[in-house]
Amino acid sequence: MPERWDVVVIGAGPAGLTAAAVAGSHGLRCLCIDRLAPGGELINLGRLHDCPDLPPETTGADLAATLADAATAAGVELGFGEVSELQRGEDWRVVTGDESHLARAVIVATGLAPGSLGVADEERFEGLGLSHCASCDGPLYRGESVVVAGAGRWAIQDAIDLAGLAGHVALICPDEAAPHSDESTTKLAGLPNVTVTPGRIVGLEGAEGLEAVIVARGPARERQPARAVFVQSNRRAALGFAADVLAMDGVGRARVDDDLCTSDPRAYAAGDVRAGAPEQLASAIADGQRAGLAVARLLKGKEGAG
Ligand SMILES: Cc1cc2nc3c(=O)[nH]c(=O)nc-3n(C[C@H](O)[C@H](O)[C@H](O)COP(=O)(O)OP(=O)(O)OC[C@H]3O[C@@H](n4cnc5c(N)ncnc54)[C@H](O)[C@@H]3O)c2cc1C
Repeated sequence: MPERWDVVVIGAGPAGLTAAAVAGSHGLRCLCIDRLAPGGELINLGRLHDCPDLPPETTGADLAATLADAATAAGVELGFGEVSELQRGEDWRVVTGDESHLARAVIVATGLAPGSLGVADEERFEGLGLSHCASCDGPLYRGESVVVAGAGRWAIQDAIDLAGLAGHVALICPDEAAPHSDESTTKLAGLPNVTVTPGRIVGLEGAEGLEAVIVARGPARERQPARAVFVQSNRRAALGFAADVLAMDGVGRARVDDDLCTSDPRAYAAGDVRAGAPEQLASAIADGQRAGLAVARLLKGKEGAG
């Protein structure tokens, strides 16, 4: 018989760990489950940007450990497993491989799936020049030419960070997406070994490892030599397991109301996975607090979740 929890939080990134800690601190029996070690995107991050409440030297790993400790201190059980299905019933059934867990309510906090280029041979180059983590793999390409694919805030930050290591960085922004614009864009423009070009990567070349990417600009094709490509483009909400039970917006993120309640009154969504998320740590943590509190109100009544 599957174990029955008050709440199962799916995803142990900053949003999920915070939601779980709040639910646990309100006396709810809470399981927080992840397909990887707790921390989510934090695990890949060195120095954190735009986190004014944290000491400047705080790393992603530091914050992941703090959030995981807070969750376990609140009595949350941290579980391991990839959720493949979310089934609606009298209780939710959260399915991971051959195991399942029952829950009175769920909080979905699965963030965004890694980006993709959508080109042939993409899998062949994984670990042979194609990476999703500039802070982990960037140092392997010291002095080399590298490419960052994407146009968002964190693609630009990757390009800035890589410029301190690589010989040359080409930021290739999809034709339809203007690069994100703020002070980081200005900083990027001032770096002598960075070029920013519109275009779409349509091919990867190399025998043993990556040697070049093929970039399309309209009908033209150009070969851009590169030993590595860091992919931040086409990141979609990791919600395949809930596609049949939760309403999504036009880009596949979970629709939520002001309390982060989804289309089902016993399911909440927090962090990057929910519609309109600004894709920032502070916001993911704030979402976790709101969703944890909303679940406590739902399951314990207003007086139990002050
Ligand atoms: C390169 C990069 C740099 C960034 N730098 C900063 C920064 O400096 N400052 C800042 O404010 N923000 C930064 N961000 C954004 C920030 O990391 C995210 O906004 C934040 O991590 C979102 O938290 P989350 O909990 O919603 O999702 P995530 O951190 O993505 O966590 C989601 C978790 O869900 C798990 N999961 C997914 N699917 C399943 C499943 N089916 N079953 C079980 N578990 C699952 C994942 O393994 C993951 O652990 C950066 C992002 C990137 C990509």
